[in-house]
Amino acid sequence: MTNTPFDRIEVRGLVVTTVVGTLAHEREIAQPIRIDLDLHVNLREAGRTDDLADTTNYGDVAERVAMAVRGAKDVLLERLADRIARVALTIERVESVDVTVTKLRPPIPEHLESTGVRIHRQRTDYEAAVGDPHVAIVALGSNLGDREAFLRGALVALRDVHAMSQVYETDPVGGPGGQQPFFNMVAAIHTVLDPYAFLRRCQQIEGEAQRQRVEHWGPRTLDIDVLFFDDIRIDDPRLTIPHPRLGERRFVLAPLSEVALERCPPEWASVLPPLGVYPRGPLVWLANDA
Ligand code: ADP
Ligand code: MG
Repeated sequence: MTNTPFDRIEVRGLVVTTVVGTLAHEREIAQPIRIDLDLHVNLREAGRTDDLADTTNYGDVAERVAMAVRGAKDVLLERLADRIARVALTIERVESVDVTVTKLRPPIPEHLESTGVRIHRQRTDYEAAVGDPHVAIVALGSNLGDREAFLRGALVALRDVHAMSQVYETDPVGGPGGQQPFFNMVAAIHTVLDPYAFLRRCQQIEGEAQRQRVEHWGPRTLDIDVLFFDDIRIDDPRLTIPHPRLGERRFVLAPLSEVALERCPPEWASVLPPLGVYPRGPLVWLANDA
């Protein structure tokens, strides 16, 4: 989803020494490779807020790409460029990337300055191909408009749904009075994104659902919370994993127990009050779409 295809972050002249090439001496001695990146990122928000959290940190990009290149031993520049594109596309907010890889000392007798390849890749190029994705477990909630359609839309947008719970209808907890009951469910999603990029993707999907809303603020068409991401722990107000309020919420634990019972606190079912969570059954239609 490239909202603003003309925005980009440019990284120029990153030089890393690595083993690459087909010739015997190239396999033995590392050589300097120049890397140039055009990262396609929507920069409008950062332009408005002046906040580093709203853009892609190019220092982080340079560091991760350099590390991947240093550890590579590819034969072809094409392969090295592909490797770099994969790394760049796991970084938060990067929608697509142009990668130029240049051999600064090409091993041929003619005199020339450099040789290189340039490739363009986007997220969808890799989403199906990656063999070892992460597992993110998310809680989905909706209490405004066509609740089932918002859940369905979110699961389709999250794409690689590995497991999902039934839908539960639940009484609203906290918030302003007079709200409709929620639809809640939990799903396990395979993703190649890193945790922050995955959260960003969830927020984008929420944003798209909110835009379809015509009534006033308050209840939510769609809320997506990241409960778990593999087994990692993150202690950051922007992204806390496991989700800090998960153990208090029966509307999360009931569906979570269907998807990953081992992730629920022991005795959760008897500790939390039993009222206000009504199973509605699975979203069976999704079996055909996912
Ligand atoms: P809530 O889900 O509690 O109703 P919001 O959806 O408005 O509230 O999210 C509030 C903030 O929580 C977001 O800005 C997000 O950065 C932060 N946050 C921290 N940890 C998580 C998490 N695990 N999943 C989703 N959002 C999180
Ligand atoms: Mg939320």
